[in-house]
Amino acid sequence: MSVVVIGGGLAGLSAALTLQDAGEEVELFEASNGVGGRMRSEYLDGFILDRGFQLINSGYPEIKRLEVIPEIDFVKSDRTIDVVTPFGIQSIGDPRLHLLQGLRSPLGSFREKIAFLTFMGSRKLQGKNLEEALLKEGTLNLYHNLLKPFLTGVFLVDPSQIDASYGQEIIKSFIVGDSGLPIAGVGVLAEAIAARIENIHLNAPIADLAQFKGRPIIVATDYHASSTLLGLKSHTRFACSFTWYHSVPSGLITSKRLRVTSTQSPIVNSIALSNLLPSYAPGDRTLISTTTLEDIDENSIKDQLSRFWSVDAELFGLIKRYEITDALPIFSPTDSGRALSAKVGEGIYRAGDYLTAASQNGALLSGRLAAQELLFDKSR
Ligand SMILES: Cc1cc2nc3c(=O)[nH]c(=O)nc-3n(C[C@H](O)[C@H](O)[C@H](O)COP(=O)(O)OP(=O)(O)OC[C@H]3O[C@@H](n4cnc5c(N)ncnc54)[C@H](O)[C@@H]3O)c2cc1C
Repeated sequence: MSVVVIGGGLAGLSAALTLQDAGEEVELFEASNGVGGRMRSEYLDGFILDRGFQLINSGYPEIKRLEVIPEIDFVKSDRTIDVVTPFGIQSIGDPRLHLLQGLRSPLGSFREKIAFLTFMGSRKLQGKNLEEALLKEGTLNLYHNLLKPFLTGVFLVDPSQIDASYGQEIIKSFIVGDSGLPIAGVGVLAEAIAARIENIHLNAPIADLAQFKGRPIIVATDYHASSTLLGLKSHTRFACSFTWYHSVPSGLITSKRLRVTSTQSPIVNSIALSNLLPSYAPGDRTLISTTTLEDIDENSIKDQLSRFWSVDAELFGLIKRYEITDALPIFSPTDSGRALSAKVGEGIYRAGDYLTAASQNGALLSGRLAAQELLFDKSR
């Protein structure tokens, strides 16, 4: 009896590939017309739009394990981040290459930077939220000027809602590897993994599991669909975010760097993506990707972008806005328990980032663990 995997996001793909590599017959059912889930790209009027701005970290253990980076025309992003401050733009370089530059930057004192390093080594974080733990170590100005704006873009919620140990683990994961994107869009990663899987059915939404009676099943849909399919109560909270795509005439913005702000702004981060990846826009336009956590009207976002990039508001043409309601699961201090087992019933398993960590690595890992648990049970 072949194994059924439901959902073609990274978790489902990783589960299906693990099973197939172990010699199992697998059928993967994906509701939409393509694989990738939250990691898909859309191609519109010469622009590449990732459905939710994100970067791939080539150093994630699960991505290394798949050896997929050489297959996806991966372009590394600049590790320097620009911060909009009341005193102009401050740049923070790659801490691995420019430690002293980072320590000298005016966004926080030397003492506060050491406090951040102390936080990174701390093992006494239980029950604390990330903001509380960082401030307790003494990172005050560094936290408000740099860490909070940057981390809000990572977790898509205020760091005060994030469990400190989990936050520390995610920050550590940025230190290894390079971040970047495939030249043809973030979705290429999922497509490269899917190309290794023999039996994928697209446009195949699964409404109930009864049709697969007697076959082992891995439910790797998003959290709410999985709760419905499995008849479980939903309790995990999710962050909602908006990704906006605008274009401006090329040449007006030349930076390739991610920009965040220490000033009050609905913009969490913004990047001129086509300066990093020219394939993302036609030659005469620059593609700007911007993240907000709240919905704002079109004129307000243009005004905000104008201040952010020092370019006239009328020059920003809106291409598309994506509302991502369940963007990332929130691992909070009161709800940070990861799943110990993927098994939810006899022959039925779950996979998804909400069980491990809100990241590509978390999704891939959860799929692999669910498949391994299924294989183990089958072998007994
Ligand atoms: C805006 C944003 C920014 C992010 N930034 C980063 C980042 O910089 N770095 C990072 O590591 N991670 C980032 N992530 C997180 C990462 O994208 C996710 O953790 C990962 O893609 C989740 O994969 P998944 O397989 O668990 O779920 P999903 O991608 O949600 O996949 C679930 C799949 O199940 C399918 N499905 C649902 N219902 C059914 C059904 N009934 N039948 C069949 N199929 C069904 C869906 O169509 C979907 O394809 C970001 C996410 C977002 C949204």
